[in-house]
Amino acid sequence: MENAPLNAKTIGANAFALFTKNQKQWAAAPLSKESIRAFEQNCSGTFSAAQILPHDSYLINLGHPETEGLEKSRAAFIDEMRRCEQLGLDRLNFHPGSHLNKCSEKECVALIAESINLALSKTKGVIAVIENTAGQGTNMGYRFEQLAEIIAQVKDKNRVGVCIDTCHTFAAGYDLRTEKAFSTTFEEFGKVVGFQYLKGMHINDSKKDLGTKVDRHECLGKGFIGMDCFKFLMADERFNGIPLILETPDPSIWADEIKLLSSFEK
Ligand SMILES: [Zn+2]
Repeated sequence: MENAPLNAKTIGANAFALFTKNQKQWAAAPLSKESIRAFEQNCSGTFSAAQILPHDSYLINLGHPETEGLEKSRAAFIDEMRRCEQLGLDRLNFHPGSHLNKCSEKECVALIAESINLALSKTKGVIAVIENTAGQGTNMGYRFEQLAEIIAQVKDKNRVGVCIDTCHTFAAGYDLRTEKAFSTTFEEFGKVVGFQYLKGMHINDSKKDLGTKVDRHECLGKGFIGMDCFKFLMADERFNGIPLILETPDPSIWADEIKLLSSFEK
């Protein structure tokens, strides 16, 4: 974990994402003082909290329709929020949750909001950042309206936000390929959710076509979205001041992808 800022610096990144524990396991040892100190030192002078977007464990389902799964997820999420707090981080990115065909979408959304309210009441300072999804399986959060409904049910609006993943957005059916499509999609986002809630972006092309609801990331310009979307995005000041995180599948070209994106800035 403490190496994340060093790795980011090495490839010329000015923002990065990280897991504060093994993302495929439920339990984790508490963060040691040494590792918190090392993380802070490695960030110091280069990365502030607004340039870092930690992601929670993939096992967590804050909309779990069954008590046992829900309680386990909520406890793990609160632990993840506390870890961010300890590291001086101000936001935690997570996938909203899945109904597993055992409750309605409406009930799932209510459970997710209740989970966020619970986590916010037990922590300080960290914003819960809901990621939009491709809508694969029974995942919630594939419509902007669902993100808006979760936010509406969260009590402390200052501590809830969203992360928009370009691959998920496209796979969920929102076109991003042309200037017109890009502008329509984000106009809709602005109306339905609001840019004041945008706390991060995941910058990915898509291996699958528009509206397929399949979540497969592709390198920039090599998928169905195409490079133009990323040009529009980098030149658009509505996306300034938030971490833009690459989750593309080839780490060996991340440095080049970062350079390319920077060249699109106005
Ligand atoms: Zn993502």
